[in-house]
Amino acid sequence: MEFQPIIDDIAASLAAERGAGRVATYIPALARVDPAQFGIALCTGDGQVFAAGDADVPFSIQSISKLFSLALAMRHVGDALWQRIGREPSGNPFNSLVQLEWEQGVPRNPFINAGAIAVADRLVSACPDARATLLAMVGSLCGEAVAFDEEVAASEAATGFRNIALANFMRSFGKIDNAVDAVLDLYFHQCSLAMSCVQLARATAFLCRDGAHPLDGSTVVSERQARRLNALMLTCGTYDAAGEFAFRIGLPCKSGVGGGIVAVVPDRLSLCVWSPGLDDTGNSLLGMKALEMFAARTGLSVF
Ligand code: GLU
Repeated sequence: MEFQPIIDDIAASLAAERGAGRVATYIPALARVDPAQFGIALCTGDGQVFAAGDADVPFSIQSISKLFSLALAMRHVGDALWQRIGREPSGNPFNSLVQLEWEQGVPRNPFINAGAIAVADRLVSACPDARATLLAMVGSLCGEAVAFDEEVAASEAATGFRNIALANFMRSFGKIDNAVDAVLDLYFHQCSLAMSCVQLARATAFLCRDGAHPLDGSTVVSERQARRLNALMLTCGTYDAAGEFAFRIGLPCKSGVGGGIVAVVPDRLSLCVWSPGLDDTGNSLLGMKALEMFAARTGLSVF
């Protein structure tokens, strides 16, 4: 399939709508991003990369990082991870406290904030320097060094009252083992990772390769774990819009409030779209449109 003309066309068709949606403002450092940016990049299972628009501009990956931390925790903790975290869509906002009380401090899934904080706790226990381990894994996957944006991490730490509440709440149920500050330090830093669409398309290519590293073929996660990551992305990866994403796009996706969305076509390719303006569900407005166009143009879907 000729991917370059398809993504060029998608970028051109959405040019007039650049700037649509609302940039996340609850993290002050994100509010300053130019909303009129749009990028798309795709990486095939055999490593060919195609890109259009602002595909090389680094942005705050935010919740997309939950994918990498989960992959790392699957590797280090294995199935014991699921004693602390569920696998069901939440049907609640990504930062909700209510469900956590009903369910005794066990988050519904690893992609809501409480779930990712519980994953971070497992990583703090499993790795002597979890921040460095995560950074090394993501850098290795995309083939070049990546970095935390310390300004964004500090901005989140200064305003992340709800995440601080979620972590303390889980700790009160005995579901977090480590000091809340240490767990949140990892969580805020992973969210602050700055990466471009090209880097993210490369770094998620292991998900379209049954867990094999995109560059050296080593095992990032097992085939079964890669399948499970994709299943969780499809059912829980896009906040309260996972049903809509499955309906309109039909691919496992993970979004972040920085406006990025990664999507996987198992056994074929991974792709990343980015545009900072969000819709009411917190997903990138143009990103979702771009993915819908891509699925329609290519016929690629898991269904
Ligand atoms: N760092 C953000 C938060 O914890 C991540 C939100 C997101 O991208 O969904 O609120």
